[in-house]
Amino acid sequence: NLTVGVLALQGGVVEHLNLLRKAAAHIQSSSPESLEGLELAFTEVRTTAQLTQCSALIIPGGESTTMAIVARRLGLLDPLREFVKVQHKPVWGTCAGLVMLAEQASATKQGGQELVGGLDVKVLRNRYGTQMQSFVAGLDLGFLGQGEEPFRAVFIRAPIVEEVNIAAEGGGCLEQGGKGPPVEVLAVYHGGEGQKQAGEGNGKGDIVAVRQGNVFGTSFHPELTNDVRIHVWWLRQVLDAARHGKLVVNGV
Ligand code: GLN
Repeated sequence: NLTVGVLALQGGVVEHLNLLRKAAAHIQSSSPESLEGLELAFTEVRTTAQLTQCSALIIPGGESTTMAIVARRLGLLDPLREFVKVQHKPVWGTCAGLVMLAEQASATKQGGQELVGGLDVKVLRNRYGTQMQSFVAGLDLGFLGQGEEPFRAVFIRAPIVEEVNIAAEGGGCLEQGGKGPPVEVLAVYHGGEGQKQAGEGNGKGDIVAVRQGNVFGTSFHPELTNDVRIHVWWLRQVLDAARHGKLVVNGV
């Protein structure tokens, strides 16, 4: 059994589970060989015991301060850190999930929060303002392959990555884990008409998707669309890792 979990403390849990199932069906019909011999299961994760069953995990969007407080109360923060940074299992965070997976988040009014970490990045929370300023933007996601249609990315109180490879300044997971892979920038949002704040300032646009080894993060919410492409892309990596013996399958 290869079990993929969705952290279910708060936020868009069901939406991720639905798209994961849809992604699995897509893979089953387009390349059944990649599923051969693997029994895929998807599950909600609320306890350390449930986390231990998982070979990969999604941390959904929602509210990262709340998620961190609940995770602390349930004794899940350290097991999550272990899952990401010691066991190096595939983990994907969307929006609040990306905040959780950052090694640093820029100070908030409340004075910061606990994070899981795993990505040597510093995020800036709520980059585009409040819920009212939510928007959808077409993003070119080169990692999905050439000639793909833009992805309709949903941004809701979204964080962006403001610094990458922060290990040199101390505190990053590269330092703890020795020589890890560098952070790859996978998507940049350049702003569009009607979204004046976006991408302004540095002229380079805002970093909205990154990957570092087993850890992937997006500022936006693919689970709030019907577009299964990023879930398929991520799930294929999970399956590949399992095939190449880089993942714990069947609890071994
Ligand atoms: N701004 C929220 C946070 O920092 C994330 C918003 C979201 O996940 N849609 O936790």
